[in-house]
Amino acid sequence: MMEKHQGSPVQEVNDLELKDSGIRLLIKREDLIHEHISGNKWRKLKYNLREAAEQNHHTLLTFGGAYSNHIAATSFAAQKLGLSSIGIIRGEDDPTNPTLKFAREQGMMLRFVSRKDYREMTFVETRLIASNSRVSQDQQARSIASLQEEFGRFFLVPEGGANGLGVRGCAEILPEVEEDFDVVCCPAGTGTTLAGLALTLKEDQNLLGFPALKGGEFLQEEVERLMEESRLRPQSTVNFQLITDYHFGGYAKMTPELLAFINGFQKRTGIPLDPIYTGKMIFGIYDMIQKGRFKKGTTILAIHTGGLQGWQGMKHRALI
Ligand SMILES: *Cc1c(COP(=O)(O)O)cnc(C)c1O
Repeated sequence: MMEKHQGSPVQEVNDLELKDSGIRLLIKREDLIHEHISGNKWRKLKYNLREAAEQNHHTLLTFGGAYSNHIAATSFAAQKLGLSSIGIIRGEDDPTNPTLKFAREQGMMLRFVSRKDYREMTFVETRLIASNSRVSQDQQARSIASLQEEFGRFFLVPEGGANGLGVRGCAEILPEVEEDFDVVCCPAGTGTTLAGLALTLKEDQNLLGFPALKGGEFLQEEVERLMEESRLRPQSTVNFQLITDYHFGGYAKMTPELLAFINGFQKRTGIPLDPIYTGKMIFGIYDMIQKGRFKKGTTILAIHTGGLQGWQGMKHRALI
């Protein structure tokens, strides 16, 4: 199932608002890869699922928030491949939550844990919190051991698919693009997608990462660590920069201005954006174009990382 996909199309954005900017904006529509395993989640799962198969695993275990695109994607992929799946979910159960409902329909078994326990178990979140409260490796190992005791043998996919195998999948995005471009823009959560892009950037290209959370500066180190973990060699000197001005107050925060922008963009271009990641990035790109941050004649390639199922979650939380 994970072999069939033929790459995602690149689409030029025809928007009157950009007409006099001297900037060409292309979007790589990773959101079109799959209805349920959307965008970069497909890329990040690809080699994780292959590894799970090679190690003869029948169960996947992963982690996520209650509205996580990764949980939705993993539950669907597991079901399609005939694997069992377990989702360790941060927080409390809510049977009306559309993402959890979807995951359950795919047969994912959900286990709800407190924020504290979640932090101890996950690999990603431990790195998000201040270093003085960093969860020790020991504690993490103990948490995983207790999960193994409870669930038996499983293949562990880290939260968000954030590991070297995830990076490997994301390193297949740029080589698919035939058009010329100068700057690549990509939203960031764990930085795994950025790491894959950074590894496949050419000498004369720049990469801009747009963190969806506040304090995204930590991603600098994290992206470098993930690149190492993938054991892929960069094609050229790695040239990426984090643009931390467009988090809109933090992860999954929405403002009327951002919502109006996303709706206007879709109306003008026909391209739907997600509320957590790509909406903020495209807003940021437009703002930077307006402020003259790109040289005239620049071609920008924005990565549409998918995530459209996130709208259901925004509605469910009554945030929009
Ligand atoms: C998960 C997700 C991201 C974050 O990707 P990372 O590789 O974790 O940085 C970005 N965009 C969308 C739509 C996502 O679902």
